[in-house]
Amino acid sequence: MQRLRQSLQRWYCQQGRDLPWRRTRDPYAIWVAEVMLQQTQVATVIPYFQRWMEALPGIPALAAAPQQQVLKLWEGLGYYRRALNLHKAAQILVRERNGEFPRDLEQVLALPGIGRTTAGGILSAAFDQPLPILDSNVKRVLARLVALQQPPSQCLSLLWQLSQQLLDPVQPRAFNQALMDLGATVCRPKKPHCGRCPWQADCSAYNRGQHQQLPMSAPRASRPHKQIAVAIVLRGKEILIDRRLESSMLSGLWEFPGGKIEPGETAAECVVREVKEEIGIDIEVVAPLATVEHAYTHFTVTLIAFICRYLGGEAQALQCSEVRWVSPAELSEFPFPGANQKLFPHLHAWLAEHGNTFEHT
Ligand code: SF4
Repeated sequence: MQRLRQSLQRWYCQQGRDLPWRRTRDPYAIWVAEVMLQQTQVATVIPYFQRWMEALPGIPALAAAPQQQVLKLWEGLGYYRRALNLHKAAQILVRERNGEFPRDLEQVLALPGIGRTTAGGILSAAFDQPLPILDSNVKRVLARLVALQQPPSQCLSLLWQLSQQLLDPVQPRAFNQALMDLGATVCRPKKPHCGRCPWQADCSAYNRGQHQQLPMSAPRASRPHKQIAVAIVLRGKEILIDRRLESSMLSGLWEFPGGKIEPGETAAECVVREVKEEIGIDIEVVAPLATVEHAYTHFTVTLIAFICRYLGGEAQALQCSEVRWVSPAELSEFPFPGANQKLFPHLHAWLAEHGNTFEHT
C-alpha cells in the first residue's frame, strides 16, 4: 500500500492537473465543481465553473439566486436535477447553518444531491479529511489494479474498501486528486497508457494482459424512445413558452408546449390537443418546422415541431407551472432542455424567412 501511495504521489507532483477548483480550499467552490463533474468532462466543466463562481461566489449568493438564474448558468451541462439540488442545499445551509458548509460526513450526506463519493471528494479536498472516493474514473483504475472479473457496479463495497485501504491518511487531499487524475489521463477507458503509469508493476490487469478488456461492463438496458410533437405558437411578435412542472423530469426548465403522440393521432393533431390541455388555448398548425433527435440518460426522444398560430383563449398554467409570451430575442434568457434548444436555429431561420407571415399571425 505504501509503495502504491508513494509512486502515485510522485507521479502526481509531476503530472497532476492544475484545475481552477484545486487552487482553493473553499468547500463551496469544491462542492460546485464536484457536482458539475458528475457525468461531465473536465474540459466542459471549466467554463461553467468559472461563470458560476463569478455569478454566485458563495453559499448565501446561491441560496438567494432565483431558480431561473441557477438553471440558466447550468444550461447545456444536462442532468438539471444537480443544479436544483445545489440550490436547495444552499438554502438549507443558509437556514440551518448560517451559510456554512459542514465538516461532518453525516451532515454533508444529508444534503440533497450529495452521495458518498461527492462528500469524500469535498471533505478530503477542502479539509484534508481521510475519506475515500469512488467516481467512475476511480472505479476503473481500481478494477484494473486488482483485475476485477466482474463489472464494478456489482462489486461496489469491495471497491470502496480498496479505495479506503489505499487512501493516504497523511495526505488524503493530494491522494484522491492523484487517483482521479490517474483515471482521467493515464488509465483511460480505452487504450490505457500503461507505459506511463506509476502503478504498472503492481497492476494485475496489466500483468495478465487484460488492461484493454477490463473493467467488465454491466449489460445495458435499452433506452425507451419517445415521439413528442411540439408547438411553436406565434401571436403577433410573441412566442408561447411554458415551465415544466416541479414534479416532472427536467423540472423548472422552460420549453415549447407539446406532448406524446397518442396512438391513431398525427403529430399535428397532437399539438392542437396538447396545447389545449396544457395551456387552455386554441391554435392551428401553420407549417412543419423541424424534426430533431436527442438522447437523454434514460430515454431518447424525437421532437416533431410545428409553427402554429394562436386562435384564442387565455393562456393558463393548467399542466405546467408557468406560461409566458416572449419575443424571439428573449428566448435565450430562459433555460431550455437540450432537445428544445436544437429547435432554436430552425425557429430563428424560419422567422428570418417568414418575418412578414410572423407579423400577421
Ligand atoms: S497499468 Fe495500465 S491498466 Fe493498470 S492501472 Fe496503470 S494505466 Fe491502468
